[in-house]
Amino acid sequence: MSVLIVGSTALDSIKTPRAENARLLGGSASHAAVAASFFGPVKLVGIVGDDFPRRYLDLYRKHKIDLEGLQIAPGKTFHWSGEYEVNMNNRRTLATELGVFETFLPRLPESYRDSPFVLLANIAPSLQGHVLDQMRRPRFVMADTMDLWLNIALADLLKLLRRVDCFVLNESEARQLAQEDNLMRAAKKIHRLGPKHVIVKKGEHGAVLSSGGRLFLCPAFPLDRVADPTGAGDSFAGGMIGWLAAARGPAEAGLRRAMVYGSAVASFCCEGFGLTATARASRAAIEKRFKALQLLTRF
Ligand code: AMP
Repeated sequence: MSVLIVGSTALDSIKTPRAENARLLGGSASHAAVAASFFGPVKLVGIVGDDFPRRYLDLYRKHKIDLEGLQIAPGKTFHWSGEYEVNMNNRRTLATELGVFETFLPRLPESYRDSPFVLLANIAPSLQGHVLDQMRRPRFVMADTMDLWLNIALADLLKLLRRVDCFVLNESEARQLAQEDNLMRAAKKIHRLGPKHVIVKKGEHGAVLSSGGRLFLCPAFPLDRVADPTGAGDSFAGGMIGWLAAARGPAEAGLRRAMVYGSAVASFCCEGFGLTATARASRAAIEKRFKALQLLTRF
């Protein structure tokens, strides 16, 4: 079954203590779409400017990502730049240039409206809601966000959460949204805002699922060296929804497995700058890491 993914389609300039790379293919939707593509067909919704390099469109195409919903508009592609500290868990945004995103209104092609699985990757919550408005009864809706929207668009986010099955956010965002330091209590409060399934991402320490009154702890794949963690959260969510759409049975039953697949894909993302390592991964390599994660957590 196909997955619809909306989010940012960007050029990222990233600096780590070891290296620096400019204008890489990035954006929440790009990371998520490539991650999901290892499991099945993906339909992308986003916008790029006329400066968007052709080789990046080719990369989407190589992953068989449907680009009918990708608008190409006159102007500049969304550009984000960030810098990591020696401890790669800490990142500073240096610049965000919205470009064509400033006037973006997602328009869903007719062929997208019946997609059963939807990932609302990080983008303004009003735009995430606008995508849902155009869909016909999706089976499973996942959403991601970032601290910016908690700060400047909280009302829109709260409205959206009532329409979301599974909400993914990182631990500081969970604490901020719930106004609660204890993460388990924060998750409970977030359930009351709408989502039946809440996933709190904890970077290199994995992620916690709260669902049906039970918890699941999903590890991150241990890596010797992280080149660039940008987009790891998006790859996690993309891998998850991609696997869920390909699996049989109700999505609810597969959430734990989907998280471990998401974790496996996210580990590839961290091994290269931007999307370079994810794009070189394969379904077989992901399967190998999935099995390694099973062994790592068996006792
Ligand atoms: P993550 O590392 O999971 O936080 O995601 C990083 C990605 O988010 C980068 O590829 C950026 O292009 C994208 N990004 C950064 N700021 C924004 C924003 N304000 N809206 C949407 N996407 C953003």
